[in-house]
Amino acid sequence: MAISQGFLHANDKAGQYPASYYTATANKQLSFPTLEGEHTCDVCVIGAGYAGLSAALHLAERGYKVHLLDAHRVGWGASGRNGGQLGSGQRKDQDELESLVGLERAKELWGLAETAKSLTKNLIAKYQIQCDLKPGILHADHKQSYVKHSKAYAEKLANTYNYADIRFVGTAEIQEMLDTTAYHGGTLDMGAAHLHPFNFVLGLADACKNAGVQIFENSEVLEVEKGEPAKLKLANGQVTARYVVFACNGYIDSLEKRVAARVMPINNYIIATEPLGEDLARSLISNDVAVADSRFVINYYRLSADNRLLFGGGESYSFQFPRDIKAFVRKPMLQVYPQLKDVPIEYGWGGTLGITLNRMPYFAKLAPNMLNASGFSGHGVAMATLAGQLMAEAIDGQASRFDVMEKVPTHVFPGGRHLRWPLMVLGMLYYSLRDRL
Ligand SMILES: Cc1cc2nc3c(=O)[nH]c(=O)nc-3n(C[C@H](O)[C@H](O)[C@H](O)COP(=O)(O)OP(=O)(O)OC[C@H]3O[C@@H](n4cnc5c(N)ncnc54)[C@H](O)[C@@H]3O)c2cc1C
Repeated sequence: MAISQGFLHANDKAGQYPASYYTATANKQLSFPTLEGEHTCDVCVIGAGYAGLSAALHLAERGYKVHLLDAHRVGWGASGRNGGQLGSGQRKDQDELESLVGLERAKELWGLAETAKSLTKNLIAKYQIQCDLKPGILHADHKQSYVKHSKAYAEKLANTYNYADIRFVGTAEIQEMLDTTAYHGGTLDMGAAHLHPFNFVLGLADACKNAGVQIFENSEVLEVEKGEPAKLKLANGQVTARYVVFACNGYIDSLEKRVAARVMPINNYIIATEPLGEDLARSLISNDVAVADSRFVINYYRLSADNRLLFGGGESYSFQFPRDIKAFVRKPMLQVYPQLKDVPIEYGWGGTLGITLNRMPYFAKLAPNMLNASGFSGHGVAMATLAGQLMAEAIDGQASRFDVMEKVPTHVFPGGRHLRWPLMVLGMLYYSLRDRL
């Protein structure tokens, strides 16, 4: 089960954060030792993103002795690089979930997603995490034909799910909110929010440290030997643990083949303009909400605390990040906001997310003492944070909420380990092409 040189080592220097707007505006510097020698703990958590940190924090609060290991740094993965959108619901909408699992279970999944949002907001409040939390996500329809569905969906959430924080937005109003003609309508969800993802992750790491979690960076787990206790092998050490939590998301690779067969890594990119000044910034997004549009390759954007436009988009299905990320993402940004053509781009960075075939996360009991949660499919700020809490609960003997997520079917990607990537690329290219027609 030795790990190969997968996404964990493809695009960044070992142990170094990317040169992103987020790392440049980190509000604390944290650093933890490398694991060496023999260690014993109750629970060993692999991966220090939202899922791993939240699992470690909730376990430590319950009195468990926890080791948390990351191959690079705390928040080095998707959790420190993402679009910061704290969305409502699951990645799949309620119509699709009802078809997949029926109305009753779709309601349970909606309820868990609501809990995920409030858990995230509560952790930020409880640990006083300064991460620019602001309300609102606007879902913008790039095709006129989608607008009817947006209206019906807002009504459905109000009527069937009792969710009153979302409302329909028509063409005139969306063009007042956003200074672009790219959209025909959409929905405004004021129960959703956006935040500085890296400062959120650093705040969680600080909370873990204070709760007694032993965090180790530059500590890649090379092999997990099943058993009770399990043994985790690293280059210069070993951990013996009663329980193991896998929270590696898109980076899992051959460390756990069952997860890797269901969670596919895919790269996505973000740029940050120079500060635009209050007036220009507010002309782009008048109510300071985050925006996610309806394209298959989603454009997602928002303003930073210092009035930059942070814009995520572009498509690339290669293993490596593009050589010039700034130029790559500038293209879709200018399609939405051509008025920014002379504005310098100060930062551009990439990240790897984990997607599943049906875009629902993969929760699994890999063994009686080994849990996994990953594959949040671009919707993990809230859901990965909740996943950590659910794994902690399950280890502590209350698995009912973990079980609700585990019961959602997650299928193996077709094509096996070698063909799944080219098959997925073909599928993605087909859908992104259809998007442009
Ligand atoms: C560019 C981008 C934009 C996104 N935008 C949004 C958004 O706006 N809203 C949203 O909800 N979601 C978004 N996402 C998705 C979201 O960031 C993820 O779902 C979430 O961060 C997943 O958290 P995680 O803890 O599961 O994984 P990660 O944060 O990826 O953490 C996994 C960690 O595991 C470690 N690891 C892996 N293998 C090993 C090993 N063998 N040994 C030790 N450590 C290991 C890695 O070093 C890494 O730090 C985005 C993702 C990307 C990449």
